[in-house]
Amino acid sequence: MLNTTSYEELRSYKLSVSLLLFLFLNIVFSLFFISSALNNSRNPTIASILIVVACTLIFIFNKLKLLNHPDKLNIYALIIGLFWAWHTVVRFREFHAYSHEFLLFSLMVVFFISAISLSESFSAFCLHSLPPALTILILDQYHHSIIILLTIVLPLISHRLHALMQKRSETFTTELIKRLSEEREKFSDLSMLDPLTGLFNRRGLKNKLNNLDRDPATSHYILLLDIDHFKAYNDNYGHTMGDNALVAVAVAIRDVVRSRDIVVRYGGEEFLILLIDVDESYALSSAENVRQAVLNLNIPHMFNDKVSTTVTVSAGVAIMADSDIEAALVAADSALYLAKNRGRNSVEIAIRQSQTINKRRIGDRRHEI
Ligand code: GH3
Ligand code: MG
Ligand code: MG
Repeated sequence: MLNTTSYEELRSYKLSVSLLLFLFLNIVFSLFFISSALNNSRNPTIASILIVVACTLIFIFNKLKLLNHPDKLNIYALIIGLFWAWHTVVRFREFHAYSHEFLLFSLMVVFFISAISLSESFSAFCLHSLPPALTILILDQYHHSIIILLTIVLPLISHRLHALMQKRSETFTTELIKRLSEEREKFSDLSMLDPLTGLFNRRGLKNKLNNLDRDPATSHYILLLDIDHFKAYNDNYGHTMGDNALVAVAVAIRDVVRSRDIVVRYGGEEFLILLIDVDESYALSSAENVRQAVLNLNIPHMFNDKVSTTVTVSAGVAIMADSDIEAALVAADSALYLAKNRGRNSVEIAIRQSQTINKRRIGDRRHEI
């Protein structure tokens, strides 16, 4: 998943690659100095041996995750930098004719390692290269001060410029990734909403169910609502009027229930309400309030076959036991079916959620019309 966290992970990965490269290059150049000393029948410097040993140990400890200091790269860079300074002092004393060439060569080696492996960290770059660089400046006794100073200063300036450009591009990238994930969240929210009514769709319901309080002490109820004779409404008033009626019913439902309850457009002209943490009497009165609110909309429906002259809904209510949405849906659907069979514009509750549901009818539709 692309987000700012994974970008940070990528950055920390880059730092660990820097460290590996830093250790590798230091080992390679120390081995080079050690072998050239041995080839010329000289003893290698203790410092060059220590660089190999230290780098190898750092590598092992890091692999075993034994060292986890946040500034570890700086610490390693300083230690190895001091070893390089020590090595240079010792070797410089041994050389006579080529001493200045040796100093310049050493300086370049150190800056080469820093430039290649420590471009991500200016502090580590300085801590690694400045101890040997300053040592060389002093050892040279100001014979080649300009060259040495330029050799020190130019890489530092170019490092700073590079870091500045990199920082700008990183800020841009981080901002871009942030915006992308915001956009993605927005689209993912939109994909959970029904475009016509603005209610949740089935995907939204699924998402809400995943985050639902599953405490067995709390009981949730499901209301399944279906507009009565809506096909006839569409056929006679047209699809656009049908859509308008759907939106009006959706608003009426949303107005009746609490903000914490989840209202879903479950199908074409079917709605589902998930009442959070309520008891049976609350669920029943909510269903009754919704039925009444839709009736009160007074949307003319002359073809609501013997039920009413306005748009009405029928409702089936069921408890959602053990967070079992499927069982609750089966029960609510059966209760809804009963409400339809008993004349519509009414509410039925599934008393027991089994395939042979025992249902209790509330209200008398004939009085309600
Ligand atoms: P009942 O009382 O038994 O529920 O009868 P009904 O006519 O409402 O049920 P039926 O399932 O036969 O018809 C549902 C109709 O709802 C079919 C279709 O015309 C209409 N419908 C479904 N979705 C939409 C929609 O998005 N917009 C519009 N305008 N109509 C829709
Ligand atoms: Mg239907
Ligand atoms: Mg219907």
